[in-house]
Amino acid sequence: MADFGSDVGLEEFRTEARAWLEANFPPSLKGRTDLMAAMMDGPAPTGDLALWKTRMGEKGWGTPTWPAEYGGGGLSPQQARVLAQEMARAGAFNPLMAGMGVTMIGPTILDYGTEEQKKAHIPPIVRGEVRWCVGYSEPNAGSDLASLQTKCEDKGDHWLINGQKIWTSGAQYSDWCGMLVRTDFTAKKHDGISFMLVDMHQPGVETRPIKLISGASPFCETFFTDAVAPKDALLGQLNVGWTVGKRLLQHERASQTGASGGGRATPLNEIAKRYVEVDEAGRIADPDLRTRLTQHLMDARIHGLTLARAVAESKGASGATNAASVLKNSATNVAQTRAELTLEIMGAQGLGWEGETFDNDEIETVRGWLFGKAMSIYGGSFEIQNNIISKRILGLPDNTQSA
Ligand SMILES: Cc1cc2nc3c(=O)[nH]c(=O)nc-3n(C[C@H](O)[C@H](O)[C@H](O)COP(=O)(O)OP(=O)(O)OC[C@H]3O[C@@H](n4cnc5c(N)ncnc54)[C@H](O)[C@@H]3O)c2cc1C
Repeated sequence: MADFGSDVGLEEFRTEARAWLEANFPPSLKGRTDLMAAMMDGPAPTGDLALWKTRMGEKGWGTPTWPAEYGGGGLSPQQARVLAQEMARAGAFNPLMAGMGVTMIGPTILDYGTEEQKKAHIPPIVRGEVRWCVGYSEPNAGSDLASLQTKCEDKGDHWLINGQKIWTSGAQYSDWCGMLVRTDFTAKKHDGISFMLVDMHQPGVETRPIKLISGASPFCETFFTDAVAPKDALLGQLNVGWTVGKRLLQHERASQTGASGGGRATPLNEIAKRYVEVDEAGRIADPDLRTRLTQHLMDARIHGLTLARAVAESKGASGATNAASVLKNSATNVAQTRAELTLEIMGAQGLGWEGETFDNDEIETVRGWLFGKAMSIYGGSFEIQNNIISKRILGLPDNTQSA
């Protein structure tokens, strides 16, 4: 077994990773990061994408730093960084990251689960064999999540669940739901909440997809009517689910710091040169647009560097702390500004919805711009992140009860 603790070992690992990627990453998927969104919001992948997901899952490299005993890669943070570099070099992407099992539920089970829960749930997540959704929001509990009313009763040998969730991403495709329920209606609202791991394949669970303005149906209304869960479905302690739930949100926000939403991957200055006038020096002719574009590119670079520094400072740990709220808001700003600028640059071509006068990229850009609006809502809204930053990071007076 190679020694990966030293730089020399790391270079050996780099060689191993490069060779494995050459042998296993299907060339047809090179650079196709756009497939991630479809995997997140749509049915199970097929063809090369399914093959790539299986291979990464079996190798454990979709969850590179998770413990090998549960099927994870067991890599050190340094090795995981090398793997990420080699994947970028190969034009590869991590197909397991398209699921809430890997980005949110799995890390929370690793944090709070019993040994039995880890053995039961982590390996199928690692291999991408199961899909999870997160059941937090309710019609009357969004930002004020602790107002949730979904009722969970202790029936001696099982839990009985009744209530409604909303905006449940991917619920229609999910096998399991990690959900917050009320187990005590007499306690102060944050204290009567528990976190349950619930099987979606049962008669008591119904999902109704909601259609978005962008045309997609990424999320559902989810109804629980006498749904059941075994006693060991409780994650963490009874009535202490608020703590477990907040931890999951930190993992969610940490996974949303990449600033990639709401636009296409082509560099903005290249897109600009296709649609707007350039001067003799090849620069965008409009000085105002040029200035705003430059400002955006600097902001994007600053965000990227800050993110890299945060990851380095966390020594490769998940980065799931309150600081994730800062990075999530910064990522949202960068992605939404990019999407707005792209549309402005495209002019009339940025108004396309369908039809022959618009190419696929143009239509996708408009849809991406619309979907990008969701970045400042999901995982806790922009304003709620600002509340967390003010309370938990800056120590300003607490006058809200949000997560
Ligand atoms: C694409 C997408 C996917 C989602 N996926 C899921 C999912 O998988 N599971 C799930 O459970 N939920 C999911 N959600 C729901 C999401 O978590 C909620 O929409 C979000 O928490 C906001 O809640 P709300 O929609 O009820 O808005 P509200 O809470 O009603 O907020 C409305 C507005 O008021 C502002 N506001 C509210 N309270 C405060 C305050 N205290 N201070 C300052 N401003 C405030 C908000 O910032 C917002 O602008 C998803 C949402 C989207 C858009």
